[in-house]
Amino acid sequence: MLYILGRRRRDVKLPLHFSSPGNLDYNARPAFYWPSMSPTAQTLPRVAVIGGGPAGLMAAEVLAAGGAQVDVFDAMPSVARKFLLAGKGGMNITHSEPYADFVRRYGARSGEVGAWLDAFGPEAVREWIHGLGIDTFVGSSGRVFPADMKAAPLLRAWLHRLREAGVRFHMRQRWLGWEGDALRFATPEGERLVQADAVLLALGGASWPRLGSDGAWVPLLAARSVEVAPLVPANCGFDVDWTAHFSEKHAGAPLTTVAIGYQDREGRRARRQGQFVVTQTGIEGSLVYAISSVLRDQVAARGETTIWLDLVPDLDAARVRAEVLRPRGARSMSSHLQSRLGIRGVKAGLLRECLAQADYLDEDTLAAAIKALPVRLKRPRPIAEAISSAGGVRFEALDAQGMLRAVPGVFVAGEMLDWEAPTGGYLLTACFASGRAAAQEALRYAGRRVES
Ligand SMILES: Cc1cc2nc3c(=O)[nH]c(=O)nc-3n(C[C@H](O)[C@H](O)[C@H](O)COP(=O)(O)OP(=O)(O)OC[C@H]3O[C@@H](n4cnc5c(N)ncnc54)[C@H](O)[C@@H]3O)c2cc1C
Repeated sequence: MLYILGRRRRDVKLPLHFSSPGNLDYNARPAFYWPSMSPTAQTLPRVAVIGGGPAGLMAAEVLAAGGAQVDVFDAMPSVARKFLLAGKGGMNITHSEPYADFVRRYGARSGEVGAWLDAFGPEAVREWIHGLGIDTFVGSSGRVFPADMKAAPLLRAWLHRLREAGVRFHMRQRWLGWEGDALRFATPEGERLVQADAVLLALGGASWPRLGSDGAWVPLLAARSVEVAPLVPANCGFDVDWTAHFSEKHAGAPLTTVAIGYQDREGRRARRQGQFVVTQTGIEGSLVYAISSVLRDQVAARGETTIWLDLVPDLDAARVRAEVLRPRGARSMSSHLQSRLGIRGVKAGLLRECLAQADYLDEDTLAAAIKALPVRLKRPRPIAEAISSAGGVRFEALDAQGMLRAVPGVFVAGEMLDWEAPTGGYLLTACFASGRAAAQEALRYAGRRVES
């Protein structure tokens, strides 16, 4: 059934549908219901936040503190599912490195993201968490974690505070775009139209779609002439197309002491040490994610790209060569490599997998390959598996106040904007900061609408 609020009075601004948090009951109301409001409520600017992830919730907090009537709509049965999942793996909420280094992590978008962070940066994020009664600590990598490394206690305290501030939550409300000026939602009871003085979209990217952010908003905004860069995987793994023999034997094997050589964006040879895992089809893990944006762009430009594995990063090339060339008597090359260089298991398998037989048997070539084993990456893993996504609403689609040029009164925050960052707390920090920045502008806009 289609419920249309105020269809008879299109020229009149309509209030958001009033309901208790999480318990919409408009099915029982007449189709053209227009709730009576107290004089005070009528003068409050009404802001609809669509998307209850970290960016949307942070926006709701700022809007409510600024005196708006805030209604949060989300397609899922509960808010912040990705945030909760992030907490299961030990959530990095921000990072303790020097601020200038922190801002550089946003690459080509450091300027725009830096402007949000100047107002609400990593230190402010920590203080904000402490204000929720949750301690934080800095790990050995410099990453900042909430106490217990969990998201659930933080989210519980945050939602409690938001409800106390008057924020109302409407779950299972899938935004479908607009009908005229009104927002269209699919709900369990049928379609519904909602109007507000300002709208804040915080719909996320397209990774892990089963947690709510599925990128279905892209055509909705494109239809309103909003420029959107295609959503692509970020912080993702890659397919190598291993042979069946290698993948059966080594899928799931971690490489804990390894470095990856790769070509950086300027075409220079770069190198990074860390850890990753061999998967059924390729590679994934923190070291791969850290350089995944440059590798992804190379694959897009060239069809595939090559990385060079250093299987013994703690030994220099001369030492490796000397060990390989050392007389080995009747021993096989693989047991020689195991005893002299500790190369066994998945590392030994990689040499066999990625080197031609003739190269494996040539000691000079083998020694060089142990320090720089070429591995060809065919494609990034699908966006649904990525930690985050790149692309989204282009900054050029926003005016100086962060409002969509093509759709006045609509502001955008979080991962659905066209920026990306590595893992390590940079994603959440920018989502929080952009939620605050967009909310402040939405508040001003909605305030002016109410006054006029
Ligand atoms: C496994 C995993 C681990 C992670 N770990 C970390 C970490 O440790 N540190 C870090 O900084 N980041 C981490 N991230 C990334 C971080 O969780 C995201 O960047 C962040 O959640 C994005 O926030 P957001 O508010 O922009 O969007 P989201 O959190 O994606 O929220 C968007 C919301 O919009 C709703 N929505 C979408 N479409 C509609 C629609 N049409 N109608 C109504 N509602 C809709 C969704 O249901 C969802 O609730 C991790 C991500 C994953 C997947």
